[in-house]
Amino acid sequence: MQLQPVDCGWIEVICGSMFSGKTEELIRRLKRALIAQQHVQAFKPLIDDRYHAQAIASHAGRTLQALAVADCDALAAAIRDETRVIGIDEVQFFSDDIVQLCQTLALRGVRVIAAGLDQDYLGRPFGPMPALMVDAEFVTKALAICVLCGNPAHRSHRNENADSGKTIQVGTASEYVALCRRCHAVARAEANAIAAQAQLDFADPADPSEHE
Ligand SMILES: [Zn+2]
Repeated sequence: MQLQPVDCGWIEVICGSMFSGKTEELIRRLKRALIAQQHVQAFKPLIDDRYHAQAIASHAGRTLQALAVADCDALAAAIRDETRVIGIDEVQFFSDDIVQLCQTLALRGVRVIAAGLDQDYLGRPFGPMPALMVDAEFVTKALAICVLCGNPAHRSHRNENADSGKTIQVGTASEYVALCRRCHAVARAEANAIAAQAQLDFADPADPSEHE
């Protein structure tokens, strides 16, 4: 990752599914920069307080001090002049403005490392991730291992029958599993069948009070 001229910054994106080691990789890169005595700041969206309010934490238990910020403006306001490396975890939860902010920072000479889910639980592109990946100099796609068959997994399946329709759900080990393409398609078909049956049950006039 030292291929760029020293006066110019760049953007690195670490994307992938849940349990693919994205945050682990982000922490590894930031700690290397810290060892090199570079000025580093790490951020995460305020929504994610799974493990630590003021740290980014991987599922494996590694942590790094980070500032939780409400939005892009708060993130921009918290950046110090001397900072040369910026890490952003769970970047998919920020608005599209995060892309412009990362571009501005890179032009200013900052190395920006952003980690996030590239797909929501339905396999759809997640928030600002596609635009960020297009603009990034370096994109690392991390893969998990499918818990059902052992194949490379790039989808995050939500362990619920009833879909709330919300994609902003921060995963914990019990809510999500990493699945491969095939197992995710099967799981989604089953979830849709269950949801369709529930609709039929609801539409069925089983409530006797309605007929009185
Ligand atoms: Zn599988």
